[in-house]
Amino acid sequence: MNFKFTESQNELRRQVREFVEAELAAGTFKVVSKALVAQFSIEFSRKMAEQGWIGINWPKEYGGQGLGQVEKMIMLEEMFKYQAPVGYHFMGERQIGPALMKFGTDWQRDHFLPKIISAEKGIMFCLLFSEPDAGSDLAAVSTTAIKEGDDYIINGQKVWTSEGHVADYGWLLAKTNFDESLPKHRTCSEFIVDMKMPGITIRPLINMVGEHTFNEVFFDNVRISKKYLVGQEDAGFKQIMAQMNYERSGIERLLQNYPVYSELKRFINEMDESEKTGEYFFWIRDKMAQLEIEFTVGRLLCYSTAWSIDQGETPTSQAAISKAFCTQFEQRLNDFAMAVIGPNSIIREGAKWMPLVVDVAACYLWGVSYTLQGGSVEILKNIIAQRGLGLPR
Ligand SMILES: Cc1cc2nc3c(=O)[nH]c(=O)nc-3n(C[C@H](O)[C@H](O)[C@H](O)COP(=O)(O)OP(=O)(O)OC[C@H]3O[C@@H](n4cnc5c(N)ncnc54)[C@H](O)[C@@H]3O)c2cc1C
Repeated sequence: MNFKFTESQNELRRQVREFVEAELAAGTFKVVSKALVAQFSIEFSRKMAEQGWIGINWPKEYGGQGLGQVEKMIMLEEMFKYQAPVGYHFMGERQIGPALMKFGTDWQRDHFLPKIISAEKGIMFCLLFSEPDAGSDLAAVSTTAIKEGDDYIINGQKVWTSEGHVADYGWLLAKTNFDESLPKHRTCSEFIVDMKMPGITIRPLINMVGEHTFNEVFFDNVRISKKYLVGQEDAGFKQIMAQMNYERSGIERLLQNYPVYSELKRFINEMDESEKTGEYFFWIRDKMAQLEIEFTVGRLLCYSTAWSIDQGETPTSQAAISKAFCTQFEQRLNDFAMAVIGPNSIIREGAKWMPLVVDVAACYLWGVSYTLQGGSVEILKNIIAQRGLGLPR
């Protein structure tokens, strides 16, 4: 791996940083402590599209810049440092676009890719994978898609659907084969579903931060045309797994609470001189240095996985290591921030006495979910053990 960025990569970083800082200064967004991609602004996404930064790593034939995963990571690192509101196009660009390029029909590519890359109105996606009895064991989905003529009829329930209440389309995994002799990972298919279809009911789930980002989504005889089936019938699970390295190695896994990290450093530096002596302060100094080591390791893991993807590799174990490490780092960061700031850390956003410009309590509460979403740490360790180390199941 080349540990130095190229001149053009440094130039890209500079341009993105300037752009984000200018947007922040103009007040088009605020640094808030929501789960990163839950923040969205179609206007912000449009501005990114104008810069050519949506689909920066998509092939030129699909409107992208044909750059690599490393360039995409540089761009997102600068965005996420300020928690820029990239949620409108995020899923479409990261997951749906690349899947359509690989598995989609010509109609699907022509219809969806230009809209995603230009952040057109009405093109926000959510992921309809998890169910009450299918999370880590995703192949166990029981939502059914039964073929009827040129259509599929969808019935069942999804859960934890982030942004399902605002998304225009859902990326659905549903069971299409009921042959009990088949392994379950060969029984489901992927579809694109218009979230406004008759028969879809979306109910909010309020998380413990007190925010509405999750939903339950119910399908009651929802009829969709077969042209929305993506890839091969019954190959949906395999197709999703082929995309997971991109999801898991994203630098958002390291930077979901970056403002806590940067603000904490400021807070400690600006502590009263009289507080900067004695064992308590040395404990703080030691822990902060430890976090700096971990942050640096996490960043290297993200970039090295991106680099491997750019070399044409499929770094499944490496991506799992990266996600497991980065999300646990973020939990340790939030724990430490709560300990350093003490009782004031529970003062919530907007209150006069909030000690950092970011809501540490919200980040702490959000942090619990980081090691679950996109594959729990236990599942990632299974992948590392089996696929990385060749250990038995
Ligand atoms: C913030 C957030 C956003 C999310 N957004 C979405 C979304 O937009 N769309 C969507 O479809 N889903 C979403 N999810 C759901 C997420 O994908 C699931 O939470 C995840 O797959 C785990 O599934 P589960 O919650 O059913 O837990 P379970 O699979 O029931 O796991 C419970 C516990 O058992 C452990 N466990 C399970 N199996 C094993 C095993 N084989 N070996 C060892 N330990 C095991 C797990 O590690 C975990 O600790 C989101 C989740 C979170 C937290």
